[in-house]
Amino acid sequence: MRQIIKKLESFGCKIFINESMALHSTFKTGGKADVLCSCDNAKSAQAAYFYLYNCGIPFTVIGGGSDILVSDKGYKGVILKFFNDKFIEDCGGGYFLVSGGASSAWAVSKIISSGYGGCEFAGVVPGSIGGHIAMNCGCYGSEMKDITTYVKAASDGKLQVYDNKQCRFGYRNSVFLKKQCIILSAMLKLKKEDVTKARQNLKDLLILRKNNHPQKPSAGSVFKRQGKNLDIMPAKLIDEAGLKGLKEGGAQVSAKHSGFIINNGNATSSDIYRLINKVKQLIHKKYDLTLSEEIIYIGDF
Ligand SMILES: Cc1cc2nc3c(=O)[nH]c(=O)nc-3n(C[C@H](O)[C@H](O)[C@H](O)COP(=O)(O)OP(=O)(O)OC[C@H]3O[C@@H](n4cnc5c(N)ncnc54)[C@H](O)[C@@H]3O)c2cc1C
Repeated sequence: MRQIIKKLESFGCKIFINESMALHSTFKTGGKADVLCSCDNAKSAQAAYFYLYNCGIPFTVIGGGSDILVSDKGYKGVILKFFNDKFIEDCGGGYFLVSGGASSAWAVSKIISSGYGGCEFAGVVPGSIGGHIAMNCGCYGSEMKDITTYVKAASDGKLQVYDNKQCRFGYRNSVFLKKQCIILSAMLKLKKEDVTKARQNLKDLLILRKNNHPQKPSAGSVFKRQGKNLDIMPAKLIDEAGLKGLKEGGAQVSAKHSGFIINNGNATSSDIYRLINKVKQLIHKKYDLTLSEEIIYIGDF
């Protein structure tokens, strides 16, 4: 263990032993990771990835931790956290090279200040650019697939470049969720936009969210939309089934947005997990439909 820690520190990563994952997940729940290796630049993140991968050490990559539920039993291995990298390069013509570890809010505000837009949707969703791409995050009719030209990732033990098609973007899905990989950077293509207009657009979306989303800890919408055209909204079904406000321990189906499960302050990941399964069971009983989770489970449940 000492040797692993020393090596990771030599790459410039910050190491935390027996780190509570509640500090690294927007649900604010979860047990301890044996090691949390925090990287705020692509060079350290890449070195840490190859070291862990080549040594066969179990590890999982996270960004902002805004779409994960970590087991109360914690994680046996290394959580490789790539977040808060302040790297962005204006490559001209609307192309921006952005770190996979950049906070999306930070990157979007930089892009807007340079006179480009079309990425405001990504700026109002918490997380990192890498997490956004892995999840093909989206809202208000746009998704990361619409603005991603190519992605540089360390994947399957080697450095690779994926063009938009190779990213195999789907609804809240991409090739990156199926691999042990770390997205190091991405080339985003934006359109020219008046700075004031783009800033106002961002502000409007943030207000919309504040009005419609609960403010307590959550991971956003827990369930994926369903149906061939993604026209079946879990929040609507949950609402109609009368499950708004349903509780398990400290976890609750939000009264403000039924697609969200919130942590009322003292929830455990087990509470959230039990509530998710209860909702799934009741929806299945009423509609003969199996909801599937958007959130990513880490550790044993
Ligand atoms: C209040 C709230 C509102 C939300 N609203 C929306 C919304 O409108 N639309 C939406 O789509 N989502 C939404 N989400 C969910 C979440 O913000 C997004 O899925 C976001 O893209 C996750 O990014 P992250 O960096 O936090 O990823 P994490 O939660 O850290 O990780 C999620 C997945 O991405 C992988 N990953 C993360 N970083 C990397 C990387 N660098 N390389 C490779 N894989 C990586 C992880 O392994 C994991 O599988 C919301 C969440 C919250 C808390």
